[in-house]
This record gives sequence, structure tokens and C-alpha cells, in this order.
Amino acid sequence: MMIRHPNLKMAIVEKENAVAKHQTGHNSGVVHAGIYYTPGSMKAKLCVEGLKLSYEYFCKHNVPHNKVGKLIVAQNPDQVKRIDDLFDRGTKNNVPDLEVVEKDCIANYEPKCRGEKALWSPWTGIVDWALVCKHFAEDFQNMGGQIFLNYEVTGFAEMTESKGSDELAPISIRSKHKCLSSKYVLTCAGLHSDRLAVMTGCDRSPRIVPFRGEYLLLSDKKKHLCTTNIYPVPDPRFPFLGVHFTPRMNGDIWLGPNAVLALAREGYRWRDINIKDCIEMAKFPGLYKLCFRFFIPGCKEVIKSIFYPLAVKDLQKFIPEVSYRDVKRGPAGVRAQAMDNDGKLVDDFVFDGGKGSIGSRVIHCRNAPSPAATSSLAIAKHIADKLETDFKF
Ligand SMILES: Cc1cc2nc3c(=O)[nH]c(=O)nc-3n(C[C@H](O)[C@H](O)[C@H](O)COP(=O)(O)OP(=O)(O)OC[C@H]3O[C@@H](n4cnc5c(N)ncnc54)[C@H](O)[C@@H]3O)c2cc1C
Repeated sequence: MMIRHPNLKMAIVEKENAVAKHQTGHNSGVVHAGIYYTPGSMKAKLCVEGLKLSYEYFCKHNVPHNKVGKLIVAQNPDQVKRIDDLFDRGTKNNVPDLEVVEKDCIANYEPKCRGEKALWSPWTGIVDWALVCKHFAEDFQNMGGQIFLNYEVTGFAEMTESKGSDELAPISIRSKHKCLSSKYVLTCAGLHSDRLAVMTGCDRSPRIVPFRGEYLLLSDKKKHLCTTNIYPVPDPRFPFLGVHFTPRMNGDIWLGPNAVLALAREGYRWRDINIKDCIEMAKFPGLYKLCFRFFIPGCKEVIKSIFYPLAVKDLQKFIPEVSYRDVKRGPAGVRAQAMDNDGKLVDDFVFDGGKGSIGSRVIHCRNAPSPAATSSLAIAKHIADKLETDFKF
């Protein structure tokens, strides 16, 4: 928006003392190529476009990254069939240079990896998304934008003083100690996006339910076993991609993430419990419906989270040389999973405004689902188009 309208005065408010403290700074660090998503969907389009824009940005701004590629590996006949489906999907989504890899050739791509068939995506890469976000923040400031940290938004109100008949009264963006005013507001609040939406009169649905994704770390002496991203074939019944091997920019290998209900919206550990968040979840019928549908797999995830060496069995299918002695607990991220009242997971972007004259000048991005880090530059273009249309710039 600042690039298109250099005279526009823009500010970002952020409740933490730095940018990228939540999902953007706690993710797998993968630059996704766009294989999985339904052809024609926003997710597919924005991911493929975002991949291209991201690599261009990394090269222009010297952001360290590595195109290590990705193998999606089938372990049984059912998954073998799905490799071909994924190849078709990826091709329809214009994912570049995908290759189907037969069993005997898997080792050519990852010497210690085993499987029945695989899909190779050479354009998938890795990067530190928190670092990328810091670059974005610097660009924004260099163009004249201001960033207010430690600024937790607690409400919005239309200011009473009039600016004359043609001008709109400003919207005050309130926090505990400070107040800023603006003509228009865009919110992208991740794990709190539903709460901000309610502040301008939007419906509570879709709600955000926090799902923690925990990683294990591979020991130094086994790091050489993994040089590329190794992913399972995703199970279509579940929304997440499954536990994968991911090389990090610092040379570590992360194994994960799993998916367990977090007891706080920013609950990075089991012992992080927020009573308000728990009460809200306990009152939300959608969550009961989801738990009922996924009761057995959900319990298995919790057991593997607590007794983490059990998770190693899943990893050994891909690299048999990994044993439970080679892993230790690693970091975790929390996904802002948008869910409707029937317990259905909302898979696409959701934009909302609210009621009254404030509602027509506020856009809430209520759901920016994975791979929104990869898609971020394409999402930014999409949102800039929306702001120009909705706010008539
Ligand atoms: C475990 C995990 C793995 C993932 N792996 C990948 C991956 O490999 N590749 C990929 O492309 N994507 C990945 N994703 C998805 C990606 O990280 C997210 O989709 C993306 O980071 C979302 O960005 P966001 O800005 O919407 O949310 P966030 O990064 O969560 O930012 C929201 C911000 O809003 C602030 N905020 C909230 N409430 C308020 C308030 N009241 N006032 C002021 N500020 C507020 C928060 O402090 C936060 O900084 C992963 C996500 C997770 C959780």
C-alpha cells in the first residue's frame, strides 16, 4: 500500500515488544511451492505467486535462504496413489519442475530416506521467516511508516469531533495507555483475530482455536541424515501436513510439528494455561464437535506429545536410522485455527468489517492460514487491492 500510495500515512501497532513473536516467528521455516491446495483456490494462487515473490525479495535484500527442495514420500499403496494425485494438483497449480520419483530412485534425492514412491519439488526452500518479517518492518519504516510496539489494541471507537461534512471522523484505536486515530483500519491479529473482529461488531464466528505444533530436534551426530524437507503424504481427513523433517537455516533439523490443543492462545508449552482462553474454549460448541470427530487421533497426538519418543516410530518409516535416543524436545508454534460453530475448520481467507460506520472503514483479516508466510507478499498485494476497492482510495 505504501509502494502504491507513497503519500499515505500508515502505522502498524503490535502488542509485543518486537515483530514476529507469534506464528511468523514460530513456524517450520519452509518456503512452500503450492502443491497441496485445491486448484483455483486463493490458497493455491497466493502460495505459487508468493513463492516467486519471496525468492525475488530474498535475492534483492540478501536474505539467507536455501532451495533445499522437498520430497513427499508414500509409505503404502494408498499413499502411492495419492502421489499421482498430488502431482496432478501441483501441475494444475503451476508448481514448477515437479517430478514423480520411483522407489529405487528416492535415495538419489535423499540417500537415507525410504519409501514406496515420492514427489520431488526442487523449488521448495527454507528461510527464517522472523528475519524476513524484520526486513519487511524495516522497509515499511524506510518508506515513512511508523511501528508502535507494546501497543495492545483493546477497542475501536468513532471519535466524536467532526472533520467537516466531507470528511470522516477518525477511528480511535485504543490500548491501555495510549490512543491513536486513523481514518481506516486493517487488522491481521493471528491468534487474536476473532477478538479484534468482535470489537467492531462482527460475529464471533469463525473463532480461533489454538493448536500447538511441537517439534523435536535431531541430535548433532544424526543431522547428516537429512538434507532436504521430507514430508509424509498428507492424510485428507486431517487439516495439517503431518510430521516432517525440516532442515533449518542454522543447520538444525526439526522434526514435526504435531497438532495438540493448546490451553492458551499463546500456549507454547503444556504448562502455559490461560483461564480466560480455557473458559472460552469450554463454552464453544464447535470445539466439542471437532473433539468428538477426532477423538481417537486427538488422544494419540496427546500421548505422543507427552511421551515424545513414541513419535520417533513415525519418523523411522522415512529414515530408519533415527532412533529415540537421537531426538530431544524442541521449540513449538501455535496455529491460529479458525473454526465455525459446527466444528468445521475454515480453510480459506476470511475478511470481515463490522457494524455501523466504523464497520465500513475496518477490514479484519480473520484467517490467514498456512502457508501464509510463503504467501505473505502475494497476500499483501491482494489486501492492497481490497483496501483500494473497499475504501475507495
Ligand atoms: C507450527 C507452524 C508451522 C508453520 N509452518 C509454516 C511454514 O513452514 N511455511 C509457511 O509459509 N507458513 C507456515 N505456517 C503458517 C504461518 O506461520 C502463518 O500463517 C503466518 O505466520 C500468519 O501470519 P499472521 O501475521 O497472520 O499472524 P502472526 O504472525 O501470529 O501475527 C499476528 C500479530 O498480531 C499481534 N496481535 C494480536 N492481537 C493484538 C492486539 N490486540 N493488539 C496488537 N497486536 C496484536 C500479535 O502479537 C502478532 O504479532 C506455520 C504456522 C505454524 C503455527
